[in-house]
Amino acid sequence: MLLTPGPTPVPEFVRKAMADVTIHHRTPEFEKIFEETRNLLLEIFDMPEAVMLASSGTGAMEACVTNLTHKKALTINSGKFGDRFGKICQAFDIKSEEIKNEWNTPVSVDTVVETIKNDSDIDAIFIQICESAGGLRHPVEQIAAEVKKINPEIMIVADGITAIGVEKVDTTNLDAVITGSQKALMLPPGLSMIGLSDKAVAKINSRPTGYYLNLASEIKKQKTNTTAYTAATTLIIGLGAILKKIKEDGFEALYDKTAARANATREALKAIGCEIYPQTPANAMTTVYTEHAPAIRKILKTKYNTNIAGGQDHIKTLIFRINHMGLVEDFEASWVVNAIELAMDELGLRTFDGTANRVFAENFFKGN
Ligand SMILES: *Cc1c(COP(=O)(O)O)cnc(C)c1O
Repeated sequence: MLLTPGPTPVPEFVRKAMADVTIHHRTPEFEKIFEETRNLLLEIFDMPEAVMLASSGTGAMEACVTNLTHKKALTINSGKFGDRFGKICQAFDIKSEEIKNEWNTPVSVDTVVETIKNDSDIDAIFIQICESAGGLRHPVEQIAAEVKKINPEIMIVADGITAIGVEKVDTTNLDAVITGSQKALMLPPGLSMIGLSDKAVAKINSRPTGYYLNLASEIKKQKTNTTAYTAATTLIIGLGAILKKIKEDGFEALYDKTAARANATREALKAIGCEIYPQTPANAMTTVYTEHAPAIRKILKTKYNTNIAGGQDHIKTLIFRINHMGLVEDFEASWVVNAIELAMDELGLRTFDGTANRVFAENFFKGN
């Protein structure tokens, strides 16, 4: 049972859709698939433009930094992925400033507002919607609304790799929203996507930058349902298949189900004494803070056939993370909290009495 917050399992119908013979990317057949996929992508982003890139999510992060910062970037660092935006700026000698917090702490809207008021060079802000390092939800929509009131030209770039497909993100004030294939979208790794506002497109076109990750050339090509370089045809076919299915079932249905699963998991784990790590948990995953994380994960893997994630860097051995993204089966979600309770019993932390499973069921199935 793979319950890590990325990669997530690829559903069978997607694997089958991707198993057909390779089609040439410069053909009417593929252009038709590209067009359908692109339209579904515009719909899930709820934005006027979008591009697909043959890269992992970090490629889209890099493309946004290099194409949307003309003067100075403000990067929000409450974890590994926020830290990465700062490192990308450094790699390209792009001036940047960082607001850094502990990995369980969301950035303060006021601090962002003060920072941009005090530094008129800042023309782009880079932030995660869900910072996957700790499973933290940043107040991205509020920040975007406040910043746009002060200066609508400042680009708001939101990394939604663990948010698009998890929840309805209000993209009204966002200029770029990044996502990737292997998390909430349930595909193999290797494809990234960026939703763009009209303002972002105008800024990108005002100063085309880079070669492979040149968004101006991609936008131009992708508007005509092709790509600047060889398209990741197989992954785009898979993306079309998954987005079609999500739309058929209803986007809201997926978001509601994911939220219910996240809530029931948190309640179940709190009921057996687990400490939820982030101050503002995102629905993509549940993160528990405990020094017993490695021991619990080991028991889950060896005895209960369940793979959950640990942490990285300074909290590598201090947290475990359970995925809620994608089409997780109900029985998988209820099994994992039960297995954690059993593991805690085995470690002598708490006597097993079935509380986790009961609280999960009460919340998830009986809607408490
Ligand atoms: C996984 C992840 C990334 C990095 O994506 P890669 O596909 O590994 O390059 C970036 N941001 C967030 C929030 C992620 O969860």
